[in-house]
Amino acid sequence: MKTKERMQILRTEMPCQPPEVRAKNFREVPYGYTEEIAIQEANRCLNCKKPKCVEGCPVRVPIPEFICLIQEGKFLEAVWKIKEKNVLPAICGRVCPQEGQCEGMCIHGKKGKSVAIGNLERFVADYERISGQIPKPLIVKKNGKKVAIVGSGPSGLTVAGDLIKLGYEATVFEAFHKGGGVLVYGIPEFRLPKNVVEYEVQNLQNQGVKFVYDHVIGRIRSIDELFSSDGFDAVYIGVGAGLPVFMNIPGENLQGVYSSNEYLTRSVLMKAYLFPEYDTPLVRGKNVAIVGGGNVAMDSARTAIRLDAKNVYIVYRRAREQMPARLEEIHHGEEEGIQFKLLSNPVELIGDEFGRLTKVRCQRYRLGEPDKSGRARPVPIEGDYFELEIDLIIIAIGNNANPLITMTTPDIEVNKWGNIVTDELGRTSKPLVYAGGDIVTGAATVISAMGAGRRAAKAIHEDLFPKEDEEPDTLIPKEIIKLSDAAIYPDSTLMKIILTNSSKIELEQVKVSISHIEEFFEQTLLETTIPRWAPGDENEFNCPRIHENEKEYLLSVKDISRTIMSKIIIAKEIVNYH
Ligand SMILES: Cc1cc2nc3c(=O)[nH]c(=O)nc-3n(C[C@H](O)[C@H](O)[C@H](O)COP(=O)(O)OP(=O)(O)OC[C@H]3O[C@@H](n4cnc5c(N)ncnc54)[C@H](O)[C@@H]3O)c2cc1C
Ligand code: SF4
Repeated sequence: MKTKERMQILRTEMPCQPPEVRAKNFREVPYGYTEEIAIQEANRCLNCKKPKCVEGCPVRVPIPEFICLIQEGKFLEAVWKIKEKNVLPAICGRVCPQEGQCEGMCIHGKKGKSVAIGNLERFVADYERISGQIPKPLIVKKNGKKVAIVGSGPSGLTVAGDLIKLGYEATVFEAFHKGGGVLVYGIPEFRLPKNVVEYEVQNLQNQGVKFVYDHVIGRIRSIDELFSSDGFDAVYIGVGAGLPVFMNIPGENLQGVYSSNEYLTRSVLMKAYLFPEYDTPLVRGKNVAIVGGGNVAMDSARTAIRLDAKNVYIVYRRAREQMPARLEEIHHGEEEGIQFKLLSNPVELIGDEFGRLTKVRCQRYRLGEPDKSGRARPVPIEGDYFELEIDLIIIAIGNNANPLITMTTPDIEVNKWGNIVTDELGRTSKPLVYAGGDIVTGAATVISAMGAGRRAAKAIHEDLFPKEDEEPDTLIPKEIIKLSDAAIYPDSTLMKIILTNSSKIELEQVKVSISHIEEFFEQTLLETTIPRWAPGDENEFNCPRIHENEKEYLLSVKDISRTIMSKIIIAKEIVNYH
């Protein structure tokens, strides 16, 4: 397809539940792309030589490459391409603020609408999950080291996923009874279905990560005890920023005042929205104000709408353009009936004689000069007030670091806000203790927490195995190469394979994965005879190195019995790993 033709294709917006329907249920709002729509949207990508979109992605997902694979209908290969850099694409495709990242930089955006990169990412990740064509986890040789990960949010999950692939024993300690952090206790079902998160946690469990729930580190055990009593070699702290911030105005102790943390945890994690099936108590206001303009505020407001509120107000002290929430959430919330009281801020909460909230008094604001963040500073207008009649207010103006761990481990340095201080790879002031995600940066994004986790996994590996200077290897299959024919050379350990398509195996990059074909073997045989693939393992299946042309390769397979080789051939395909 020519560039001009690609430019002429219009962006396909995500099909969604109609606002009047979805405002009454908690099902996911977008339906997702079909295969046809995905290919059509992918065809808009110009495969730019210097792709700006990649520069906009905090973890540098190879965007044009994965989109080109979608153009060819290679959806599985596309998701594996993403997973080289981002192990949670089904989640990021749904919740990343793409308009300020990859999509915000897309060349299409200059004249029209950017390629829907997030929707495409979500599509291929869902395709893999729904089709069940997940590559089996590799069996990695254990390296004898144990790492404790405190907190199961996106940063903790990323560390665990990277370390397990490098042969570590990885144990995640989580305060709640479920894994996923904010993904399961904050972001509502209608935006991020919990089965998507559970699936990712299960995947890690299948790979060997151990999850220990209902364990509050700092109470049940200290960080020091994780080393001295439990024998961990390193500890990663990914406990997020879970301490709600209040406004410190009169009336905050009235009944009907929630922090967004409590409101969403009760609804999302403890399923108050499914009452009476779940009997978690939650005040369901008729007239509800939410203070704040970020994703947390929008999630709270949209939850209140779904819990039958008549009027839901977002009270935010800046203008709409400065709202930090994802554009899609603001747009969806507006369609669902949320009323925006912008450039205003509560100054007092007023109650009745029984201590129940009845009103909020707000002051009007105007925009002033930009502050340190570059956003216009909100300036209160003297004497300009208004009141809203409400029976519920949810404060969503931010979260601070929970001090539990740092109070019980005083040799970890924190800054004046209580966030842990680290170097760029997540090393804290305490040897072999690392940290990342919101506990370091303050409340941020899923993708930045994941990026921090990846860097910390690298640092842990470097520090525990100083000689092995290698990146955590994500071992993501690049493509499946179908074999039309294969033969064993008599009295040798050479296997000839002939490719059915024109795939070109890149020499030196190919590692034939035994795990993909292990189903053809008895477990005992596998245990005793087959050399395992593991990073740095000399017995790995070798790269094709003897003869090469476009279609024919000879594979040298050392240390492997011919009986087993004949079974390998039955597999008729090779997974080409990076
Ligand atoms: C309602 C809401 C909506 C959001 N929406 C978006 C969005 O749309 N897009 C986006 O990119 N970001 C969004 N964010 C921000 C994003 O979710 C966070 O930046 C991200 O989850 C941080 O990841 P983390 O791993 O650092 O911590 P978290 O996800 O906070 O996970 C920390 C985990 O540690 C556990 N923990 C805490 N203390 C202990 C302890 N002492 N012992 C054991 N476990 C402990 C907690 O229970 C939790 O499970 C949202 C946040 C919220 C609250
Ligand atoms: S900038 Fe846009 S058009 Fe160019 S490669 Fe990235 S997604 Fe494709």
